[in-house]
Amino acid sequence: MNAELLNELTALLPKDGILTNPAERLVYDCDAYTVEKSPPDIVVLPTTTAEVSAIVKACNRHDTPFLARGAGTGLSGGAIALADTVVICLSRMNRILGVDAHNRTARVQAGVVNNAVSRQVASLNLHFAPDPGSQTSSTIGGNIAENAGGPHTLKYGVTTHNTLAVQFVTSDGEIVEIGSDVEGLPGYDLVSLICGSEGTFGIVTEATVRLTPLPQSWRTLLAVFNTLDDATNAVSAIINEGVIPAALEMIDATVLESVEAAYNLGFPLDAAAVLLVEIDGLDAGLDAAEAKCRAACQRHHARSVESARDEEERDALWTARRKGVGTLGRIARSMVTQDCVIPRSRLPEVLREIGAIVSRYGLRVANIFHAGDGNLHPIILFDERVPDEVERMTAANHEIVTLCLKMGGSLTGEHGIGLEKQDYMALMFGEDDLDMMIRVHKALDPDDLVNPGKFFPGSKKEFRETPESITPRRTALV
Ligand SMILES: Cc1cc2nc3c(=O)[nH]c(=O)nc-3n(C[C@H](O)[C@H](O)[C@H](O)COP(=O)(O)OP(=O)(O)OC[C@H]3O[C@@H](n4cnc5c(N)ncnc54)[C@H](O)[C@@H]3O)c2cc1C
Repeated sequence: MNAELLNELTALLPKDGILTNPAERLVYDCDAYTVEKSPPDIVVLPTTTAEVSAIVKACNRHDTPFLARGAGTGLSGGAIALADTVVICLSRMNRILGVDAHNRTARVQAGVVNNAVSRQVASLNLHFAPDPGSQTSSTIGGNIAENAGGPHTLKYGVTTHNTLAVQFVTSDGEIVEIGSDVEGLPGYDLVSLICGSEGTFGIVTEATVRLTPLPQSWRTLLAVFNTLDDATNAVSAIINEGVIPAALEMIDATVLESVEAAYNLGFPLDAAAVLLVEIDGLDAGLDAAEAKCRAACQRHHARSVESARDEEERDALWTARRKGVGTLGRIARSMVTQDCVIPRSRLPEVLREIGAIVSRYGLRVANIFHAGDGNLHPIILFDERVPDEVERMTAANHEIVTLCLKMGGSLTGEHGIGLEKQDYMALMFGEDDLDMMIRVHKALDPDDLVNPGKFFPGSKKEFRETPESITPRRTALV
């Protein structure tokens, strides 16, 4: 730990705004990607943008890397601190600063929890559309950094489509405003550049987000299938009907088993999978859209298609989707969630192959994912205390990622590259693409101080092989 930097940070922040005690720092040793861990030297908890700026300037003076952290729910290791990295946790910057109902926007601090925005504006008949499964804990800053999606982003778009402007602390500590509260801003779309940059350019401290009217009406259907093939074929069939559901999610038998053990909601335990299909909008068109969805499921041998009769039944269906991942803790000690995207039409063969891969390694897989987007989340269940299981999980994971790439897919739909997938970047992108990304990065973070060791291929190697003396720099790449 750099003693001079620590002195400067101590002078900048109140006593409870800086954590150096090993037990406290341990809480920040990983995010929800628990495969790799590294407790940071220092965690700071600023409450204002001016404090964030001062912290970043202090880090610059001491040539010390830093990273932003929201709620630590990230699934690719983006918030894990490599050696000497100061963690700037935004969780105390959690105020909703203003709501403009006429223009349907809200100005929020970066540490505001995702669904706090929707709760705040519900009485105005509005909501913040991106709804990651982590919406009760993940922050707007983390959502922007990862360009988070969620079940309803099939129709309403991901975070970048719902973010108009950000206040941003640059890599050298300057405070800048990017974007505008009005639509149609000319020039480079810098807000979109920041969305999905995985916290490698600077720190978002505030954002103006778009608010969307709550739908006038909805229909929520549960279609039950005896085979994964039928369930996945029905996904493409629904979209081919010309219906864009607000959500089109798949939950497999393993997840249903753990959901039932936890909540006893009455899901069938002998089904291979269920589809949760939600359509919403003006009431007038919904019966016709529902009929099309039903017909598509029935054509693919759904053994039943039930419609939620009221809010209570709808909530029960959504409980399975929203809490499903958490309930897997009942049947597995550890889990790792994959996040590849494949063309929707290839869902049947890819899911079949994923099942075969994971059982070849003697492990179990659970699937609960955004089927309408082709965004897979195979969750491999294992025990992190057993080295052999970790090895088998890693090997299975590797095969799944390469399979999805071979199928014309993408490395990540919403969880990001982080530590987890950086070495795969070179499989997906050619040298020209990577070189362009490195040049953009260099323009915004010339000294490589912002969340180093992430995203670019090769940077993690040092972290893995020499954990005692990590050199978290990417300069070797350029
Ligand atoms: C059960 C569960 C379900 C999930 N479901 C979804 C889902 O449906 N869709 C989805 O997209 N994701 C999902 N996630 C992943 C995760 O919740 C999202 O990536 C979320 O956006 C992370 O937010 P966070 O506040 O926890 O960020 P963190 O994990 O703290 O950080 C994530 C990354 O963002 C950077 N960052 C954080 N705050 C800032 C900031 N203010 N400025 C700049 N960079 C910042 C960090 O440096 C890090 O690289 C899920 C996670 C879990 C555990």
